[in-house]
Amino acid sequence: MVRPHKNRMVAFNPDISYFKPRGIPLLDLEEVQITIDEYEALRLSDLMDMSYEEAANNMEVSRATFGRIVRRARKTVADALINGKAIIIQGGSYRIIDRNRIFICNKCHNKWEEPRGTGRPENCPLCKHKNFYRFVKKKSNLPRRMRSTQR
Ligand SMILES: [Zn+2]
Repeated sequence: MVRPHKNRMVAFNPDISYFKPRGIPLLDLEEVQITIDEYEALRLSDLMDMSYEEAANNMEVSRATFGRIVRRARKTVADALINGKAIIIQGGSYRIIDRNRIFICNKCHNKWEEPRGTGRPENCPLCKHKNFYRFVKKKSNLPRRMRSTQR
C-alpha cells in the first residue's frame, strides 16, 4: 500500500522538466526521476544555501522529512551526472505557493496584488472602497505536467 504523503509547498514551477546528456541516443539512455518537491529541496538547500530548518519551514515539512527529500534528490542527481542518465523532473506530492494574493474591487474593478502574510488590505488602493474580494485562481489553470501526482 502506498502511504499518502502530505503536500509539500513549492515556491515555483520549474521551467525545465528534462535533462539529458549530450550525444547519447534516446534509446540507449537510462532515465531517473526527481519529483517537484525533491527539485525544490535542492533549490532551497544547495542553490539558496538555506539551513534544513529554514528550508523545511518553507516547504511546510519537518526537518527530518526535508532531510530525506533532499538526500534522495542529491543521490538521484549524482547518479545521473556520474552514470550519464537523463533526469525527468515531475510528480511528487506538492502544492504550488501562490506568492501573491489577488484582490478585485467591486466598485472600480481594480485588480491588484498583495504579498502573502500581510493580512487583508484596508481598502482598494485606487478608489479606497472597502468592498472588494479575493480572486482565487483555479487549479486547472496549471499545465498538466505541474499537477500534483502520487508516485
Ligand atoms: Zn476600487
